[in-house]
Amino acid sequence: MSAEGMNPQKDPLHPQVQPPGDESARGQDGQRLQHAEGASKPVRAPAAREAQPRGAKIHGDKPIDQAEAAERFIAAPLHQAAHDARLWDVRKKRDAATQAIPEWEELRELASQIKTHTLANLDTYLEQFEAAAKANGVHVHWAADGAEHNRIVHGILRDHGAKTLIKSKSMLTEECGFRHYMAANGIDIIETDLGERIQQLDEEEPSHVVMPAVHKTRIDVAEVFARTLGTDPTNDDAHYLAESQRMTTRPLILQADAGMTGCNFAIAETGTVVTCTNEGNADLSGNVPKLQIHSIGIEKLIPRIEHLGVFIRVLARSALGSTITQYTSHFRGPRKGTEMHMVLVDNGRSARLGMEEFWTSLKCIRCGACMNTCPVYRRSGGLSYGATYSGPIGLIIDPTFNKRKYSTLPFSSTMNGSCTNVCPVKINIHEQIFAWRKVLAEEHQIPLLKQGMMKAAGAVLSRPAAYRAAIGAADSALKALPRFAVYNPVNTWGKKREMPESPKQSFHAWYKQNRMKDGAK
Ligand code: SF4
Repeated sequence: MSAEGMNPQKDPLHPQVQPPGDESARGQDGQRLQHAEGASKPVRAPAAREAQPRGAKIHGDKPIDQAEAAERFIAAPLHQAAHDARLWDVRKKRDAATQAIPEWEELRELASQIKTHTLANLDTYLEQFEAAAKANGVHVHWAADGAEHNRIVHGILRDHGAKTLIKSKSMLTEECGFRHYMAANGIDIIETDLGERIQQLDEEEPSHVVMPAVHKTRIDVAEVFARTLGTDPTNDDAHYLAESQRMTTRPLILQADAGMTGCNFAIAETGTVVTCTNEGNADLSGNVPKLQIHSIGIEKLIPRIEHLGVFIRVLARSALGSTITQYTSHFRGPRKGTEMHMVLVDNGRSARLGMEEFWTSLKCIRCGACMNTCPVYRRSGGLSYGATYSGPIGLIIDPTFNKRKYSTLPFSSTMNGSCTNVCPVKINIHEQIFAWRKVLAEEHQIPLLKQGMMKAAGAVLSRPAAYRAAIGAADSALKALPRFAVYNPVNTWGKKREMPESPKQSFHAWYKQNRMKDGAK
């Protein structure tokens, strides 16, 4: 049955789906179910309608103008406020969950060390994984890049005459442009993750690694579903929307020719792929069709099953502030009468492993905590980055894919270091952002105006006398100049905020007057 065949307006809701406050939403102990999402503070969709701001404009390899897209997001105050509140709520839940276990820092350290060790011996662990998977009856493939990954998967589907594929959320397949490639080759893809399905129906990329549609309000989702699934455009009740999507997607899932998942962890010792979801959607993709494919970034390896517990504990707490994801599924070998394929994908990872300053970004377990804490990300939305990966982790990964196209991204940070503090695998994110700025400046990958300004700033900052003179002149100018001379299009810093009031005396002058009078230096 196709999605078009369903009529969510006419067909009744599933009997278990009831409005909020319904007693059936309580567990056996009488308490409301407190899973990760259930425990969240509800962020109400704005009552007033506001057009959803769209992401960055892409012009081939031209540098992404993240600031321009961010400005449009900020200009939609209802969206910006809802996005900020939602992510800050997740950040607070993450803090509570990590503070609830005294061994949190120990776990972070362990996770970091296991990843460092695995990456330092990646060739050995990849060979071990391949041998174990083959022994389990799995067909193992190697893809050097995204294009090869897509060709391999298409070849598997073609060999089986498969025309429809259900797929659980996978950032790797986003990296590979998988959905577009398959559409061009006549293969129907159905996303099984609710957020990712919303994004697919709206023809947008995911804006967050864990919550793909977090930049949308419920009203936006109601509009997308009304347009694509025929639901009631005025009904933005979350239960109604989720159930409508379920009713239209389930038949497609049951009839699909093949299923595909990404991979959170790949265990070298056993050849197992582990996926962590809150909707059980990877289980549908992995267990319903007879043909099963798993796409694995080569950095997802961990040595042994005993290491998995460390990552499961840090991932769920960092991502949503929950103790564990609802589903942690292990895919080890084909079930009777089925076929299983695993595709190990490099797509720039080996090259990154050789980058002295940036290789530790490969430790990332895609929890999204650095995004939730980042003030720039929360106020500009993930699609403003115009890249598969957004937020702080995106700033250090994206330029490894295309230095010119993503040359502006490392400048979209306040460098407050909060991303580094929350990272469960201890990636020094803000230091890598700074390192990218240096690389890009040295390679002239930044705009001429910025290059000139940095040169001028360097000349002033390296000469104490020139610096003091400049500060003195700026202080006097701020006091004397009319407002329009300070707040104009040239001063982008002053667009959304007031310049600080200039002090009566510089610190240097104060120090000289108060501390150096007795001969102190
Ligand atoms: S860089 Fe760290 S905090 Fe950010 S998504 Fe990756 S693991 Fe999570």
